[in-house]
Amino acid sequence: RFVNRIRREIIGVGTKVPLNNGRHIQYINFDNAASTPAFRRVNHKVEEFLAWYSNVHRGSGFKSQLATEVYDKVRRLVADFVGADFEENKVIFLKNTTEAINKLVAALDLSQDDVVITTVMEHHSNMLPWRSQAEVVYAEVDKNGRLDINDLEKKLATYHSRVKLVAVSGASNVTGYLNPIHKIARLAHRYNSQILVDGAQLIPHRSVEMKANSNTEHIDYLAFSAHKMYAPLGCGVLVGPKECFAGQEPDYSGGGTIEAVTLDDVVWAESPEKEEAGTPNIVGAVALGASIKMIQKIDWEALIEQEERLRKYLLKQLQQLEEVKLYGAMAKGVPDNQVGVISFNLDSFHHSLVASILGREWGIGVRSGCFCAQPYLHRLLDLANREIEEFKDKLRRNEDVKRPGLVRVSFGCYNTIKEIQRLIKGLQSIIDRQKKGADFNDEQEYDF
Ligand code: PMP
Repeated sequence: RFVNRIRREIIGVGTKVPLNNGRHIQYINFDNAASTPAFRRVNHKVEEFLAWYSNVHRGSGFKSQLATEVYDKVRRLVADFVGADFEENKVIFLKNTTEAINKLVAALDLSQDDVVITTVMEHHSNMLPWRSQAEVVYAEVDKNGRLDINDLEKKLATYHSRVKLVAVSGASNVTGYLNPIHKIARLAHRYNSQILVDGAQLIPHRSVEMKANSNTEHIDYLAFSAHKMYAPLGCGVLVGPKECFAGQEPDYSGGGTIEAVTLDDVVWAESPEKEEAGTPNIVGAVALGASIKMIQKIDWEALIEQEERLRKYLLKQLQQLEEVKLYGAMAKGVPDNQVGVISFNLDSFHHSLVASILGREWGIGVRSGCFCAQPYLHRLLDLANREIEEFKDKLRRNEDVKRPGLVRVSFGCYNTIKEIQRLIKGLQSIIDRQKKGADFNDEQEYDF
């Protein structure tokens, strides 16, 4: 079976972790939206490369030339993987999606007269960087927590000539909802704007084609992180048209970014080198290349089928537990167009307590809180402005405050139905113990 085969390809599956009671149990990772574990093949490739690597740039030694060749080959691999024309685009290696979006902010050279339209459902990384350089306008979500495309179009029409970019996530890290990126791209282009897709949650779950084809519109910019797609931390990518990275000064300068330097002048290198100051994360790029090759080998159909099975199963199980509160479209059924990210709350329990019990008593890693998407959480939880203001005031006064939030389960392609069954058992036991009058508010034990 697919899942048995794929589990053998992932490092750390089945690792035993300690529980509160001193026993050890096989760890279940339901926190893949934060970071996925790495493919074994990524590890092998990195190990192989470590024997041969050296710094890139202009080293004349064999190893330096080899490293440069490999590093540049991964750029091409990335372009192919996301369906971007390698001759027309630049593939820039950075630390992560956040750095990639900040890089684009700098490269677009915006002013406060420019408008960037983003959405209420974004990760803070696709929200805060824009605020520093442009006027930011937010497209709303509807009562199901889905992006309101009509509102997005309305805002494009309202700010029309000032809109430089529509910056939208491909999939939400809170609800997993997929956004119709090509439809949004068509709208953006109709209003002479460009589009950035924050692909952090999209890339590990769906094939992406930046080039236009007969029925899809092209995507101008794409950002994503290797650590969410079965490669280790520390490598992210920005892909975008070469014109965007030509000409202007780099946001960071230093070694690697120049052709010539005198004491009072500089000739900048071309991109992508100009955008990658200092020694880059060559090993990280090699790891990303290996994970891309592995995903291409697995094939998307099998991967999506496995994740869909898990998503549908978990949602149905959660919907049967009266005490579980689901939000948006998930409260009403099993929505389409969603990747395997499901957030919920347990009646009368703080989200961090639930996450903590699942970790310490059941060996299950989930995430709780706001997932760096506070405005979206506020909408999903239907918080009144007054409540949000009170919460902020308390934080400013450094007072203890229970943060609003959710418990998030996010799947990788290697998770199983059996793992979900342990999660449901864990949730059921929390509910049962509460019914029997257990006191969970022992903060000594559960310091959340
Ligand atoms: N955008 C989305 C949708 C994300 O889920 C994340 C990571 N949680 C980011 C951006 C930021 O990614 P990174 O931390 O790798 O920069």
